[in-house]
Amino acid sequence: MASAAQRIAAQKKLSQVARSKGIKYFLISFTDLFGVSRSKLVPAAAIDGMVADGAGFAGFATNLDMSPADSDMFAVPDTSSLIQLPWKPEVGWLAANIQMDGKSVEHGPRNVLQRQIDAAAKKGYRLKTGVECEYHLISADGSDISDPADTMAKPCYDQQALMRRYDVVSEICDAMLELGWGPYQNDHEDANGQFEMNWDYDDVMVTADRHVFFKFMVKSIAEKHGLRATFMPKPFVHLTGNGCHTHASLWDKAGKKNLFHAQRGELGISALGYNFLGGVLAHADQLCSIFNPTVNSYKRINAPVTTSGATWAPNTISYTGNNRTHMVRIPDPGRFEFRIMDGSTNPYLCQAGLLAAGLDGIANKTDPGKRLDINMYQTRRAEELRKLKVKQLPLNLLDALRLTDKSKMLRSTLGDETIDAYVKLKMADWNHYTHHLTQWERDTTLDC
Ligand SMILES: [Mg+2]
Repeated sequence: MASAAQRIAAQKKLSQVARSKGIKYFLISFTDLFGVSRSKLVPAAAIDGMVADGAGFAGFATNLDMSPADSDMFAVPDTSSLIQLPWKPEVGWLAANIQMDGKSVEHGPRNVLQRQIDAAAKKGYRLKTGVECEYHLISADGSDISDPADTMAKPCYDQQALMRRYDVVSEICDAMLELGWGPYQNDHEDANGQFEMNWDYDDVMVTADRHVFFKFMVKSIAEKHGLRATFMPKPFVHLTGNGCHTHASLWDKAGKKNLFHAQRGELGISALGYNFLGGVLAHADQLCSIFNPTVNSYKRINAPVTTSGATWAPNTISYTGNNRTHMVRIPDPGRFEFRIMDGSTNPYLCQAGLLAAGLDGIANKTDPGKRLDINMYQTRRAEELRKLKVKQLPLNLLDALRLTDKSKMLRSTLGDETIDAYVKLKMADWNHYTHHLTQWERDTTLDC
C-alpha cells in the first residue's frame, strides 16, 4: 500500500507537494555498490526540473565501476518513494535510479533489483519480503557499546537495558508509525548494546527502499541523542553480530495469493516454494559475497560461540523447520526466513540476488533436498557435514568473491556488467585488507 505522501506525490508535482507539506529541501538519494547512500540536497524550487532530468553526479567519486573521464551520471528520483524525514520534516527523501548517457546504468543497485522484479512479473510473480535489521548503539567515537550497565551474559530481551534506550528506540518506532510502515515490536537483542525493530513486510522494492531509509533514520536519530548506530556484521568479536534476516514469499501478480503457501505441503510450503528454496540453496555460496559483502561479514558467519551461548548466524548451506541453527528456517507456513544476510548487505542487491536465485530454482524445478531437523551448531566437524552432504558457507570474502565471479546464474540474471563491477570493487577491498599487518600476526609469528 502506498502511503498518503506517496499517493499525493504521484498525482501532483513535487514542488506542489513541498508547499503543502512544508518541505524546503529534497534529498535525491541513490546507493552505490557498497550500499552507501549518496545524495544531493535540492531546494524545493528546483525539484521539478530534477524529477525530469535527474541530479548530476561524478560516478567515479562513489563505489561504482566508473572512471573520472566518464560523462555525468544522473540520479532520477522515483517520486513514489518520497519519505518526509520524521526527525526533520522540512526535508523529503527520494530514492533515485541512476542513468548515464541517456541509459540506465546496468550495475546501479536499484536498477539491478528493478530488472529482477520485471523478470518475475513476466512470469506472473511478485516477491514480498521483510527484513530484520539488527544494530548496535555504540559510543559516538565507536570504541564501545554506549551503555556501560549493559553487561548481562545473556542480554536478549533485557527489559532494563531496553528501557535505558527508550528515548532512541521509541523515537524511531514513532517515526515508523507516522510513516505507515506498520512497526509491531522492538527489543534488546542477543548482544550487549544490540537492538532490533520490526515492521511489516511488503513488495520487495518497497522493503529495499525502507531498508535503506531505516539505516539512515537509525543513524540520524542515534546521532541526535549523542550516540552512534552501527549495522556492522561483527563489531565486537565476543558478542553476537548484526544479521539482516530476510523473510520472503512469492505472490501472484495481483499480490493477493501467496504462492508459497500450501495447506497440504510439507510445513505448509508449496512445491513452487521448495523449488525457489532449491534455487537459493544451490547458489548460496555464489550469493554469499552479496549477502555478506565485507571482510568483517565472515567473522559473523562461521564464528565461534559468543558469550551469550550462540552466534545465531549460520555456518552451513542447509534448511530446517522452526529451528534457528540453519541458513534457512521455515517459521510458519508460506514463507522462508533466510538467516545468512548481515547488516552490511546492499539492500537492493541482496533482494535482487535472492529473487534471481529463487526464479532460477523455479525454472529448473530445483530440489532443495531433505530438511535437517538437527541442532546445526553442534554439527560442525567436517566429517559430520560430509556424511550429511551439507556444504559450508565460504570462510572469507576472497573465496566468496571467486564463487560470485564464476556464477553462471548471477551473470545471466544480474548481468555481466554488474558482476564484473561488483567483484572488481570488492576484490580491491579485499586486497586493501590483506595489506594490513595485524596484531595477531605479530603475536603468532614474531618467534617463527
Ligand atoms: Mg534478531
